[in-house]
Amino acid sequence: MRSLNDRKGQELIDGVLQIVDRLKPLHLSIVGGDPLVRYRELEEMIPLLLERRIHVQVVTSAFRPLAPRWATLGDLNVVVSIDGLQPEHDIRRAPTTYDRILKNIAGQNITIHCTITGQMMKRPGYQREFLEFWTPRPEIRKVWFSLFTPQVGDHLAEMLQPHERRQAIAGMLALRKEFAKLDMPEGMIRQFATPPQSPKDCVFARTTQTLSADLTTKIVPCQFGGNPDCNSCGCLASMGLAAVAAHKLGGIIPVGAIFKASVEIGEIRARRNASLPPPEEPLRVLR
Ligand code: SF4
Repeated sequence: MRSLNDRKGQELIDGVLQIVDRLKPLHLSIVGGDPLVRYRELEEMIPLLLERRIHVQVVTSAFRPLAPRWATLGDLNVVVSIDGLQPEHDIRRAPTTYDRILKNIAGQNITIHCTITGQMMKRPGYQREFLEFWTPRPEIRKVWFSLFTPQVGDHLAEMLQPHERRQAIAGMLALRKEFAKLDMPEGMIRQFATPPQSPKDCVFARTTQTLSADLTTKIVPCQFGGNPDCNSCGCLASMGLAAVAAHKLGGIIPVGAIFKASVEIGEIRARRNASLPPPEEPLRVLR
């Protein structure tokens, strides 16, 4: 990644705006490293994106204070990533400790996101303790959990064993009834039990495009890059879209079937267009 040409300043702002004007996304997620490294550009860029009616999400460690006006921007979701409870987080993320985060998010309106790991699931009550710490705070609007997603062939302590995955899912299903700020619908949580088998089956991977900091390099097949182990996927967004796909219109046709058919038609058309000679320039006669 170091070899990528990481844009900054006006070049970065113009580059992002050009891409959204071309692709016209409904949602744009700006993730790290840490996007707040370019906080001046972000502060200028976010209102311009919102003007275009795009829902914007900034995912940060909150290592520096967030712009005060972000607290009032309706279509902006600032997500602060937390690596578990304070003792673990403070060791892994120093100097961005819990104390520093609390200072930097004061007066904001944010979502807390925690990726559940195998180590966390070995300590009973971890999810509850996490929610007990974060949910009473007025600056926290929502809390989200993901599960750790490995690459194929990984053997890491962060990976959840099958029984730990089941426990994590059961925990979320129970805790969402107790903690209203755990903003995860039941249908989405249940999808963690049957993640997509491959990027081809993943609605999220097929409907999103991830670009690196040079705004050119595509990260595939999804935001994890490389060869992610879909069977162990813990991506919250992927589960959310899988839940939508599983929904049956009129109780009969799954939305996913309509989506799949529509993507396939789009791909056939794209292939057909690519094989055609470029069209004659239109209205040449008027030159
Ligand atoms: S988001 Fe998850 S299921 Fe989808 S392609 Fe990536 S790893 Fe696989």
